[in-house]
Amino acid sequence: MSEPLLDVRDLSVRFTTADGIVRAVDGLSFTVERGESLGVVGESGSGKSVTFMAIMGLLNRSYTDVEGEARFNGQDLLSLSERELRELRGDGIGMVFQDPMTSLHPMYRVGTQIVEAIRAHREISKDAAWAEAVDILELVGIPSPAERARSYPHELSGGMRQRVMIAMGLVLKPDLLIADEPTTALDVTVQAQVLELIDDLKRELNIGVVLISHSLGVIADVCQRVMVMYAGRAVELGGRDDVFLNPLHPYTWGLLESIPRVGAAKERLVPIEGAPPSLIHLPTGCPFHPRCPHRFEPCDQERPALADRGSGHQEACHLSPEAKTAAWAARQARRVEAPA
Ligand code: SF4
Repeated sequence: MSEPLLDVRDLSVRFTTADGIVRAVDGLSFTVERGESLGVVGESGSGKSVTFMAIMGLLNRSYTDVEGEARFNGQDLLSLSERELRELRGDGIGMVFQDPMTSLHPMYRVGTQIVEAIRAHREISKDAAWAEAVDILELVGIPSPAERARSYPHELSGGMRQRVMIAMGLVLKPDLLIADEPTTALDVTVQAQVLELIDDLKRELNIGVVLISHSLGVIADVCQRVMVMYAGRAVELGGRDDVFLNPLHPYTWGLLESIPRVGAAKERLVPIEGAPPSLIHLPTGCPFHPRCPHRFEPCDQERPALADRGSGHQEACHLSPEAKTAAWAARQARRVEAPA
């Protein structure tokens, strides 16, 4: 079998702060294949963005300790120099961030910003780079791209600006696109269009995609595999249908219960009680146990390991398969008992 496009093994990220060591990511392993999209989901502070910032060398090395391995196209990213990582960013791995207004320079035309991104990595004339900028704007569905390339960011709608960001992430033809909350600032209709665009581009260009989101709803339609993170660890990892139709971890249950399901108008939306733990003073045992309604004797003492429950569906929870089936069924039944 060929190597995965991205193969992360036992990744740990720790920050040294005045209050103590922050264990932002703790022993995380996962892969992304070419032509596949992985959704990474979890609340703020779960380690989802930090994981990819560490892999991309975007964390300040003076107070960050990164361990493990992150092989991209066979090369360990964690052993690359700053210069090698700079070359790789954009060229091998493209990135799209949440808020285009903070990522795009307000004083420059969007075409000029794309041209600069191209010329920072390749020796190419301005005219040729401008032609490529117009092509990539067309690819991401910007109407009248030659005209739009001359626009300033404030002259575009939020959805168009996010398309420009996706164009910038793709213009150097990366093998992997990392999109961190790319639709958070957009209204629902535009959000759906941008997600569909990312999905189309993944198929058209045969690239790997990582979509980071705090909501399972966002990644439901786009991602083939899903990794649920909590307190810097993966608590569930599997194919989309496995995770959505047969979720195995109480934290995933909580995330699913907090989003509406299609055709289930009378269901209650139930937020997860409590707040994520401090990453300096992590609870003993299962990090989710202070918030978990299913905790039992070993949960506050023994940390559950991520284990395969069949066909790559992994989860980290002490409950037996029978107890899980019963608990999930009971929760679903309660959920449909919506108030009149
Ligand atoms: Fe809940 Fe225990 Fe499972 Fe953790 S290990 S999710 S506390 S049941």
